[in-house]
Amino acid sequence: MITRAPVLVLNQNYQPLNICNVRRAVALLGKGKAEPIGETGEFLHSATDLIEKPVIIRLYYMVKRPLHRRKLSRREVFVRDGFRCQYCGSRARDLTIDHVVPRSRGGQHTWDNIVSACKPCNHGKAGRTPREAGMALFTAPKEPRPNPYAMFHSGRVLDEWRPFLPWVQADPLDEREDSLQGTAAAGG
Ligand SMILES: [Zn+2]
Repeated sequence: MITRAPVLVLNQNYQPLNICNVRRAVALLGKGKAEPIGETGEFLHSATDLIEKPVIIRLYYMVKRPLHRRKLSRREVFVRDGFRCQYCGSRARDLTIDHVVPRSRGGQHTWDNIVSACKPCNHGKAGRTPREAGMALFTAPKEPRPNPYAMFHSGRVLDEWRPFLPWVQADPLDEREDSLQGTAAAGG
């Protein structure tokens, strides 16, 4: 359905803000709250006239960007840790997730208790704390900074949006993710 088609919403300063649908974009345009960017050559009938179908709109006012907290997932933990085992520093292909304080000992499944670990380190540490196992962490784990563009890394990005989202295509994490495929499925 054409009114459900995605439209990129830019902030007043042209920074990408979010994605809405054509219906919502047309409403914003109609209320004079935004302007269309670019041309699509496709037209829609509104109640009174014909308007060009928007693919990008820019708001006439600044919106404070919502902070998207990083989702706690295996991949995001590996990204945060630079794809290195936090005990020995190796860039193992088969990284695992380690609970610093083991869950069996009351350790939580939270950013500050989860690190990337290679299999030998994870097995060596077993159900012990790093101190008990005589192992040291490279860095104290914590929640990474929010990613304001997280939403643009999942889902489809239209070619027309590329000029405003140049880093989405150039994201080096995409390559890393490829190299980790199979690993994510294999581990526990
Ligand atoms: Zn290791």
